[in-house]
Amino acid sequence: MSAAVTVVGAGPAGLAAAIVLAKGGRDVELHEWHRHVGARFHGDFQGLENWSCDEDTLCELQSWGIDINFLAHPVRTGTGFDARGRRYEISARRPLYYLVERGGSVQSLEYGLLKQAEALGVRVHFGSRVRETEGETILAGGPRKADIIASGYVFETECEDGAYIAFDDRLAPRGYAYLLVHQGRGTIAACLFSGFKRQQEFVERTCDFFREKVGLVMRNEQAFGGYGNLRLPRSAVQGRHPVAGEHAGFQDALAGFGLRYSITSGALAAQSILENRSYEQLWR
Ligand SMILES: Cc1cc2nc3c(=O)[nH]c(=O)nc-3n(C[C@H](O)[C@H](O)[C@H](O)COP(=O)(O)OP(=O)(O)OC[C@H]3O[C@@H](n4cnc5c(N)ncnc54)[C@H](O)[C@@H]3O)c2cc1C
Repeated sequence: MSAAVTVVGAGPAGLAAAIVLAKGGRDVELHEWHRHVGARFHGDFQGLENWSCDEDTLCELQSWGIDINFLAHPVRTGTGFDARGRRYEISARRPLYYLVERGGSVQSLEYGLLKQAEALGVRVHFGSRVRETEGETILAGGPRKADIIASGYVFETECEDGAYIAFDDRLAPRGYAYLLVHQGRGTIAACLFSGFKRQQEFVERTCDFFREKVGLVMRNEQAFGGYGNLRLPRSAVQGRHPVAGEHAGFQDALAGFGLRYSITSGALAAQSILENRSYEQLWR
């Protein structure tokens, strides 16, 4: 019997890799630095994008054997604002993206993936920071540095569901500001590609903007923030080990929608081990 595969990091990339490996009949030891999944996130809503491939994102996940046991609300309409505050309605027949929740709650993406991995027999070691690797290992430890930061609030609200984005350097230099409301809860943030030292100023401007434009009212707001890595990978192999997700630099370099890339690359890294194929060829 072959030895267990080690997976480093229980984010979407590492969890997807663990699920695909376990479904393929391999023993998996999954190590997560923090004491629970989703520690890097705060119950914020994110978009699992559905625009970069013809294949629907959720169908792609299911084709890897991943169940949709987490909140994945299809969003087909939204509102965009340009730098002059002009409003554009956006709609599509197929979902633009699926709204997911990040963090450790029972409806979050990572909690759902964790439960699937555990049900398949993956041994998950929390509070286990991997520093050295040996044997078959997939590295999925998330971003290595901060090229972009997103900062804002998660909150409760009476406002109707909606998805809003604004491209205006006064709100988010070289990036964008966004507001997502779903069933009485919301996420608002400025996603900055520069001007990091003034992030709080941009967050407050973003809140004022959406108060004025869409009548936003927030209750019980809690600050949140995070960062992402936009380095494009030349190679996604470190030593002999496949590197998945943002640890490899798999990201949407225009807007930071890295989730789908993370899940797909995690699954491909697992496939490369199961089928003894070149990961470099698979991800390219
Ligand atoms: C505020 C914010 C908003 C975002 N919004 C969107 C969005 O709307 N749509 C989208 O597609 N993307 C979005 N992203 C990007 C998306 O969250 C990431 O691309 C995605 O989480 C990357 O997944 P990952 O599994 O590669 O890494 P992570 O989610 O970072 O998971 C890596 C895990 O590895 C663990 N780890 C790290 N080092 C070790 C170690 N040595 N040993 C053990 N464990 C380790 C970490 O604790 C972490 O749990 C956003 C990012 C941020 C910060």
